[in-house]
Amino acid sequence: MISLDEFKQNLASVCARMDAACLAAGRDPASVQLLPVTKNHPEAAPEYVAACGLGAVGENRVQEAVAKQAACTASLRWELIGHLQSNKAKEAVAHFDRVQSVDSLKLIQRLNRMAADSGKCLPILLQFNTGEDPNKYGFSCNEADAVLEAALACPHLQVEGFMTIAPLDDDLEVAKVAFDGLRALRDRLADSFQVPLSELSMGMTGDLEVAITAGSTQIRVGTALFGSRGY
Ligand SMILES: *Cc1c(COP(=O)(O)O)cnc(C)c1O
Repeated sequence: MISLDEFKQNLASVCARMDAACLAAGRDPASVQLLPVTKNHPEAAPEYVAACGLGAVGENRVQEAVAKQAACTASLRWELIGHLQSNKAKEAVAHFDRVQSVDSLKLIQRLNRMAADSGKCLPILLQFNTGEDPNKYGFSCNEADAVLEAALACPHLQVEGFMTIAPLDDDLEVAKVAFDGLRALRDRLADSFQVPLSELSMGMTGDLEVAITAGSTQIRVGTALFGSRGY
């Protein structure tokens, strides 16, 4: 695990990359948030995030997040960004402030029911596979209208926007197509359903600039902040 000082340096370079990308795209830097991704990093990782005044972290597995939360003394918001099996929906509702990786109708129904049981309204993002990567979870664009309609009909879910992961590819053009696709989908559905869908969670260590150019409002960054996860 890197030291807190190294983390601070890494954070400064990520923020500089974000600022440069916003400047180039003519966007207000305040319109893009950074979500540090602490998955596969030790329990100190969320503490570093809190020590630097950031308010939230992303984790991709329920069990790992629960363990980190138990060890974490700081107050942080926890976002689930990894695939969730519906039989873990109850735990996810109990332990996360937002679920970004909502990728099936079954999961939508189940999260709604579990949130109802615990008297909550759970903020969610719908995950789309706009890069049409066979290895990625997420709805396809042609089911988007039906999926959004189903999610908006759930009284215990608050649909805040969309999320995507670009296909694993060195070619940033491939990422650009995925991000432009999510942006266009959001713009079309926000208009036709008359809902804000203001969050566009897209962009990671390798493609954050492309994502910001395409309109990302939240980039999810692990490697550039904490170093390699070693797997
Ligand atoms: C791991 C992960 C990230 C962070 O990826 P890096 O390339 O390490 O920045 C972002 N989003 C999701 C969904 C992830 O699983």
